[in-house]
Amino acid sequence: MSRTRKGRGVFYTRDSGGKHEMTPGQYVAWAQTRAKELGVTFRGTPETIEQMIRAGTFRDGDVFLDYEVSGNALSRQALNALILEASEDVNISHLFIPRRDRLARPHDPMDGVKFENLFRAQGIAVVFTDRTVAGFEKGQRIDISELIMSIIDYDHAGKDRRDLAQKMVYTQISLAKAGFSTGGRAPFGFRRWLARDDGTPVRELAPKEYVRMAHHHVVWLPGPEDDMALIHRILSMLTTQPASRVAATLTREGIPSPDAGRTRKDQGIRHSISGDWHQNTVTNIARNPLLVAMTQYGVRSMGDQLRYTPTGPRELREDDFRPDEKPKVVRNPVEARTVAAAHFEPLVDAAAHRDLIAELDARGGTQRGKPRSRTPAQNPLGARIFDMNCCWPMYRQPYQNSFRYSCGRYQQSHGEQCAHNHVNGAVATQFGLSCIRQKLVSPSAMQKLKRRLAELTQQKKAIPSTARDLSGKRVALVQVSKDLERAASNMALAETPAQFKALSRVFDELTQRQAALKKEIQTLEVSTDAVRDTDAEVEAAMNLAERLVDIAKSNGMEYAGDIFRMTNLKLFFRFAPVPSGKRVLNKVTGGVVTLGDAAPPIEIYAGRTDRGSVKASGSVSRRGTEPAATHASPTRNQFGSGEEGDSLRNVNRDDRI
Ligand SMILES: [Zn+2]
Repeated sequence: MSRTRKGRGVFYTRDSGGKHEMTPGQYVAWAQTRAKELGVTFRGTPETIEQMIRAGTFRDGDVFLDYEVSGNALSRQALNALILEASEDVNISHLFIPRRDRLARPHDPMDGVKFENLFRAQGIAVVFTDRTVAGFEKGQRIDISELIMSIIDYDHAGKDRRDLAQKMVYTQISLAKAGFSTGGRAPFGFRRWLARDDGTPVRELAPKEYVRMAHHHVVWLPGPEDDMALIHRILSMLTTQPASRVAATLTREGIPSPDAGRTRKDQGIRHSISGDWHQNTVTNIARNPLLVAMTQYGVRSMGDQLRYTPTGPRELREDDFRPDEKPKVVRNPVEARTVAAAHFEPLVDAAAHRDLIAELDARGGTQRGKPRSRTPAQNPLGARIFDMNCCWPMYRQPYQNSFRYSCGRYQQSHGEQCAHNHVNGAVATQFGLSCIRQKLVSPSAMQKLKRRLAELTQQKKAIPSTARDLSGKRVALVQVSKDLERAASNMALAETPAQFKALSRVFDELTQRQAALKKEIQTLEVSTDAVRDTDAEVEAAMNLAERLVDIAKSNGMEYAGDIFRMTNLKLFFRFAPVPSGKRVLNKVTGGVVTLGDAAPPIEIYAGRTDRGSVKASGSVSRRGTEPAATHASPTRNQFGSGEEGDSLRNVNRDDRI
């Protein structure tokens, strides 16, 4: 895999379907131009993507499109197909993506970085409109300053969504407190009305009708008589029958369910909802507090940004996530919801309704609304931690309420071939993280980072104001070039000298325009009138580096594993028996930390690790002894300037563990 490889280009974008500075078609035109410049093949035209949007397809040739998918949904049809394709077709050398926020807009910047690196690790260069990042050479690790820059980008993309989420939560709470709708469709039996600030209804709104008018809001009011009659019937049936039987009866009678005929999108696939009734549809209708003229907001909290509490938005907590890391919908307890009086009289008797809900709760068992706990896979140092005495990897073991790493050879030989050398898992992980932090703030790393940031600041300063300009000009250039071709062929077909003269004037104009555009694009590309504020940028990057470590620490160390993988951290520990009271304990007496592609200080055991073969080869026992080569010196690592082979300062710091 080489970064100068010229193979096949593919295009990916995620588009919410809203208004953007450029249309998907224009972005494909941009990709066409860039592909030509880079000398890679690319099959895709603006028409391709427009056709895809109309037909609802996510892939056509080299164009991959996730349309109307929100940025935080990390599982996307087109992206999945692209990832698969990239792993199967080694010819793919370039991936064109309009901007970083089109690839991912996750709540944690590390996720976006991971996505990008997934492609880069296969040697694929990722081309954005404002920058290009090369694919990794085989075995190459990501440059730390580049890593930080990409995290800053994804962090920024995430912040936009956060600000929006915060505004939304506050707006919705104030609406909810006044008994107004906070958005969405009205529940079964109710209709959306436009109402004044004081609640006076103005007129009924059509489905999906959106009105923006000062001092007016949307309110839910009781709907047609037929719907109300059905609600009353459901309520009375429920007093004697389970919801499942009510649902079956309604289905049998051919009464269409509330959402019948609507379409819904599940995991990117649109399907229509059948007319069948479900148990939940029935109970949701019965439980609706609007029946007793109460509005309720904050029943559930969802989304990957900030979440609702009655007093304002809150950060996501650990129990807001499912074991697979996806944010889950959490049901808020009754006391945490915002309840207000609706703008109409109760439709049913409040006491009877309360009794019915209590009855439904009892029938439904106790599972409703109970959050499940989460069990993260915690092995951040898996295959990265070694016993220098025997050269084996150390294995994770549950220990008390936490875990520890203990010599694999000791474990597999039932204590015959090595000593009980172990370290606390949490402490070792923190140690690894502090090594990385220390490395980041080392003077050489700082210097390199400063240099890199200075470059990036120059580029970046030019970008925000001119990116749109630049993209627009590139699109214009494509158009002009096409027109020129046509003009040239028309000239050849000219029948009279006058015609030829007229056409050649057009041709000249277009040629001039093409030249002008080319020049303008060039100027924009190298525009370096940037005011340098590198120090501030470096500081921000350093804060981010600190935060990275904090993120890792506060997230139950899940991210620690990612950080270790990206920096290729490895820990090597040496142990010796140390008397401790009446016992002899095997304590850490020294060790080596390596980062990047530094060579390991020992020859890591690479033989069989199963119990049978370990025991059979057990003659050379080195119970707790030191290996012959005690002073393995740390080797070069990839961050810092690296030229001087600077040694890590974390070596032999026994006090740390
Ligand atoms: Zn060992």
